[in-house]
Amino acid sequence: MFYLRQIILTSTAFLAFLAPPVYANYIEVTLLGTGTPRPSLERFGPSTLVQAKGQYFLFDSGRGTTIRLTQAGVPLSQIEHIYLTHLHSDHISGLSDLSLTSWIWQRPTPLKLTGPTGTKNLAEHLNQAYAADFDYRTKNTGLDPKTFSIEGHNISTEDVVYKQGGITITAFLVDHHPVKPAFGYRIDYGNASVVISGDTAYSTNLIKHAKGVDLLIHEIAAANTQLLAQNPRLKKVLSYHTTPEQAGRLFEIVQPKAAVYNHVLLFGIDEETILETTRSFFQGNLRVGKDLMKIGVGETITFY
Ligand SMILES: [Zn+2]
Ligand SMILES: [Zn+2]
Repeated sequence: MFYLRQIILTSTAFLAFLAPPVYANYIEVTLLGTGTPRPSLERFGPSTLVQAKGQYFLFDSGRGTTIRLTQAGVPLSQIEHIYLTHLHSDHISGLSDLSLTSWIWQRPTPLKLTGPTGTKNLAEHLNQAYAADFDYRTKNTGLDPKTFSIEGHNISTEDVVYKQGGITITAFLVDHHPVKPAFGYRIDYGNASVVISGDTAYSTNLIKHAKGVDLLIHEIAAANTQLLAQNPRLKKVLSYHTTPEQAGRLFEIVQPKAAVYNHVLLFGIDEETILETTRSFFQGNLRVGKDLMKIGVGETITFY
């Protein structure tokens, strides 16, 4: 009897070993920073971490990305791929900290930075800007000179920017006029899919690429009517972002399994109000994202 039980236990362990890993067809998203240029302890600069098949992909690297990655328990050296939605400073101001600190923490390769036209230039100048640090650390502490740099790669039009091991990342154009080009990204792994809007006004091209997606992470901007009347510049700012009414209409067409707001840009208006306004157009699963919120995307969407 004892032996029979041993055989059963051993076979179960063997079968578990053969079974696909738990992360197959599963994407985990961590909202590292859900903020804007506005300095905030609650909302760091825009940055979203996507994990699929044990690999990390980072989308934008705003203020404090390094801190949030550390809070999320992600080893900095494992960040090798960064995709930029556009080159507004709030989306890239954490980049030098992340690239240098992950180098110090022995990132095994140069950092691969993909983004709109201008990304290569940004990478080259960041490498130059920290040449003194490169000298000190390679001479004094023996850090690997080959892995120091950021390798910039420009994309000027929509394209598949990563396709390996069943994971596909597609850059598509959004409308952040006059910032051109500006991209959103779609990540597919098996049946699981995620779309990140980047900064955009209401975008029909985003609708095309996001239709039926599991998780849509979308920017949001809103102001109360009094502030809007007093400050004409605010109107200009809102014109290249998406209001709750527009987002609600867009979600109703896209029908994501879940929609989450990030890049939360609010002027004299609270989160409850923007949720209420959105819900009058879209009654699906909707949340305002928070820094360090994790979202599991598989057969179901799990927030934790
Ligand atoms: Zn922004
Ligand atoms: Zn922007």
